[in-house]
Amino acid sequence: MEQSCEEMYANIIVDISHEKLDKTFQYHVPDTLCGKIHAGTAVEIPFGRGNRRVSGYVLELTKQPEYPVDRIKDICGVCEKQTDVEGRLIALAAWMREYYGSTMIQALKAVLPVKKKTKEKQKEQVRLLLSLEEGEERLAFFEKKHQKARARLLSSLLDRQRLQNDRQAVLPVGFVTGELGIPKTVIRALEEQKIVCLESSRIYRDPTEWVQEGSAFAKNFEKNGEAIVLNEEQQKIVDAISERWEESGGETFLIHGVTGSGKTEVYMELIACALERGEQAIVLIPEIALTYQTVMRFCRRFGERVSILHSRLSAGERYDQYEKAKNGLIDIMIGPRSALFTPFSNLGIIIMDEEHEESYKSESAPRYHAREAAIRRASMEGARVVLGSATPSVESYYRARVGEYTLFELKNRVNRRELPKVSVEDMRLELKEGNRGILSGRLMEWMQECLDGNQQVMLFLNRRGYAGFVACRSCGYVAGCPHCNVSLALHGKGTQAERLVCHYCGYTAPNPSVCPQCGSPFIGSFQVGTQQVSEQVQRIFPKARILRMDMDTTREKDGHVKILTAFANQEADILVGTQMIVKGHDFPNVTLVGVLAADLSLHMNDYTAAERTFQLLAQAAGRAGRGEQEGRVVIQTYEPDNYSIQAAAKQDYRAFYSQEILYRKLMGYPPVQGLFTIHGIGEDEAYLQMAMEYLKKYLDRLTANGAVKVVGPADETVSKVNDLYRKVIYVRHENDRILLRIKQKVEEYIEINKGFDKITIQYDRT
Ligand code: ADP
Ligand code: ZN
Ligand code: ZN
Repeated sequence: MEQSCEEMYANIIVDISHEKLDKTFQYHVPDTLCGKIHAGTAVEIPFGRGNRRVSGYVLELTKQPEYPVDRIKDICGVCEKQTDVEGRLIALAAWMREYYGSTMIQALKAVLPVKKKTKEKQKEQVRLLLSLEEGEERLAFFEKKHQKARARLLSSLLDRQRLQNDRQAVLPVGFVTGELGIPKTVIRALEEQKIVCLESSRIYRDPTEWVQEGSAFAKNFEKNGEAIVLNEEQQKIVDAISERWEESGGETFLIHGVTGSGKTEVYMELIACALERGEQAIVLIPEIALTYQTVMRFCRRFGERVSILHSRLSAGERYDQYEKAKNGLIDIMIGPRSALFTPFSNLGIIIMDEEHEESYKSESAPRYHAREAAIRRASMEGARVVLGSATPSVESYYRARVGEYTLFELKNRVNRRELPKVSVEDMRLELKEGNRGILSGRLMEWMQECLDGNQQVMLFLNRRGYAGFVACRSCGYVAGCPHCNVSLALHGKGTQAERLVCHYCGYTAPNPSVCPQCGSPFIGSFQVGTQQVSEQVQRIFPKARILRMDMDTTREKDGHVKILTAFANQEADILVGTQMIVKGHDFPNVTLVGVLAADLSLHMNDYTAAERTFQLLAQAAGRAGRGEQEGRVVIQTYEPDNYSIQAAAKQDYRAFYSQEILYRKLMGYPPVQGLFTIHGIGEDEAYLQMAMEYLKKYLDRLTANGAVKVVGPADETVSKVNDLYRKVIYVRHENDRILLRIKQKVEEYIEINKGFDKITIQYDRT
């Protein structure tokens, strides 16, 4: 037999809708199909006893047969009707499974939308059929003739069309007859004149409605839609990427630019480049609820070609958005992590704003990081990735420094607006001077000045890595959850509804009035939460109007929007909140930001503690002085000399980075070395410990002669959740491929050792 290419075998997954088939089957690639089959290709294969023809997806090609070659069947052919994009997403899932560790089904569920047919809804809308120029002529005519309703409708449509760069404007009929108060007869009259048409086919639900004109939220942030001309720094970035668009497929760019330096404008320009070429764009943002303003800017500029995904969409709405993308009805998808898997057939660019955000990391298997997955998808599809942040992750900055990514910097705020003036207050000194309150002297003084000047204040309480727990001052007892190894948090302090609550399993208990351990009455919550801060601040500034934003006050639907809208409307003078308030929003009247307990996050049990602290503080500081007036920031801390606090106060990312990377190098932490984590979860602690020790011994043997570091087993930060114990082993090495090989070995070891059946093993990669 003649051999035109080396013998190739394909690992194929058969039916992805079938949960039980979490298994690949190996087939032989016949010579006739050589070169036509890749990861993701849909193929026809003989399956089962009767060699029924079924379709499957190729996950990977290999030269290694897993069975005796005479028992491996041939692939029959390539499926004609396959949608390429689905195949590519499946190949991406296969990579995720391999790299992060999970079952294939888990990986597929992450990349493919749940198919759930829901009833189509109908909607009527008015579409403008004229160009801007023609429209303006008609408008002048109506105005001359005092045809007010016609003029009003036409001018609303024209406003919208202008914002969309002359793309046909559409308004919902409900909005026209409702908010604009235009009778249907007028719409019909314009329809007869061929100025507008009425469309009554509602095809897809539109999740962008809430940011469009007329929505309650949008009203508070109306801005003139004047066109923006990029400044020199911005234009340089756009040129650098667009001028070598074709060659840049598969590349990653990092834009480091302080908040307000115009990154979003650069993103939009780059998206326009992609659209011009008939390509599509995905915009990843950390959390829609916190970035309304940004989303709205995209919707305004690109109009109907934009869709968004967010957590409040129903399964049906979500599915509709994916369908729109697949059918070419939209070009831009904005959303959190999961938007990465939008089935665009000709993806040109993936933008990842605030790339340092933790929400880009999935917490369930496969524990993928959207950044890595985006870079992977882009390289498979010839798209480019643009990461942006004011405080890039140490990881991305490192990759840029070693040349894996191309680094761009936006050094100035647009309009050269000054960065705020920052004062670091040493709370130890405050205590010495007899100030036991939560506000330093400086902060109180500046707050008073703000309030006197009718300006607004944001107080940010750093609560990372801590919950307002209840402790006994006499014996040190801390109220803990009997099921989870964590302290209980006090809710509703001082009210009838006062309870201790476990944030992991939901267990609740009454707040004890005496210590259950020693009987002392000196038991209580001595850490402050946002509620306590609000109360104290109210006592100090009795006339100030205070709003609070935290998990409690934002639980109800649109809770975020209501609070932010009220604050934007200046219905309050002071906004007190957790990390939620430091992100995204522009409040031009905020001139002072106070950061309380800046150092709490330094004590997280995690090598990223300093990085997280720097990011939070730098972002919080960036909130002040976004408008015309100068901004000021007070950072309160017990560790004023810590480098992450010092660097944040100066808004000096590089100073922070150069210290931090030294520490990472010294300790062998990511990004300098790769980290592969094995989580073990089990009911019986002793048994779990034993199993993890076996695993450790196996790893030691496996890695005996290399530079591989194996640490553990150790308790996890939260060592018990829902009565399940959690232990962890860390494996570190600078070479990713070696870590991957170790992971494969561990997977095999666990599969063949029955002892591991009683515990759950999960993997993670950093
Ligand atoms: P970032 O995303 O870096 O925070 P933005 O793109 O949101 O920055 O820009 C901040 C503000 O400056 C926005 O209101 C934006 O409309 C405005 N802006 C950005 N670039 C320009 C420009 N070249 N000319 C005028 N205004 C601009
Ligand atoms: Zn006690
Ligand atoms: Zn619990």
